[in-house]
This record gives sequence, C-alpha cells and structure tokens, in this order.
Amino acid sequence: MGVTTLFRIEKKFADEMIAHAIEDAPNECCGIIAGKDGKVTQVYRAINAHLSPYSYTIDTKDLLRIDGEISDREWEWIGIYHSHTFTEAYPSATDINLAFLPNLLYFLVSLRDSSSPDLRAFHIFREDGTVTEEPLAIFE
Ligand SMILES: [Zn+2]
Repeated sequence: MGVTTLFRIEKKFADEMIAHAIEDAPNECCGIIAGKDGKVTQVYRAINAHLSPYSYTIDTKDLLRIDGEISDREWEWIGIYHSHTFTEAYPSATDINLAFLPNLLYFLVSLRDSSSPDLRAFHIFREDGTVTEEPLAIFE
C-alpha cells in the first residue's frame, strides 16, 4: 500500500470550481488548474465545446490561450476539472478513456445533491482503467 497523501487546495479555488459548475448547469463545465511547485495558483475557467449536460471537451482555442498564460507565468498544469450535474463526483467510463495525461489530477464537481456540491480529485491511468482518489485538504 502507498502512503496516503492529501492534496492541499485553498478554499477560494475549490469554491471557484463549484461556482463555475453551478453557473453552467445543467451543462457540464470544465477548466484547467495551474500551479507552481505543486501548489495551486489559479483556476482557469474554460469553454466546454460540447455545451452538453453529459460530456465535455475543452475548447481548443481556449486551451491554447490558457496554456500560453500558464507558460508565460512559468506555472505548470496541475489538473483539469469538470462537473457532473446529475451523477456523482467520480470519473465516468468516458472520463477514464479521455484521461490522456496521467500526471494530472482530475477534479470532479458533482451537483447531484444541489444543496451540497461535492468536489473530489483523482489520478486516472487510462491504460488499465485504474482510478485512485487523491483526498483533498481544503484550507482557508
Ligand atoms: Zn465526467
């Protein structure tokens, strides 16, 4: 068994992902999480090119814009987030199949219980379909 790690993230960044999910509902929202030395520095909202309640893909132009900004600031990609408006905060079969970047954390916001949005993060290894939760420590 590996050592259990907690991924530390400031509450304002967690709140930003949840706010985006609520604003775009019932469609899924998506975005990119940037950081420095493993610490989150910014949550970038992106356009879901699918405009769909059931799937997402980050709009290509938006992806290039955000990636350029992350490079300019000498930050790194930490993760990608998207929302599930009707299902739990757990990667779907499609999410696993599209998780091409095993070093990233995949954040999921669930609005299934609208009074209590859920935010969770996972490492996804698409080759063997392994999903490992990275527990979050949300701090002020
Ligand atoms: Zn999904």
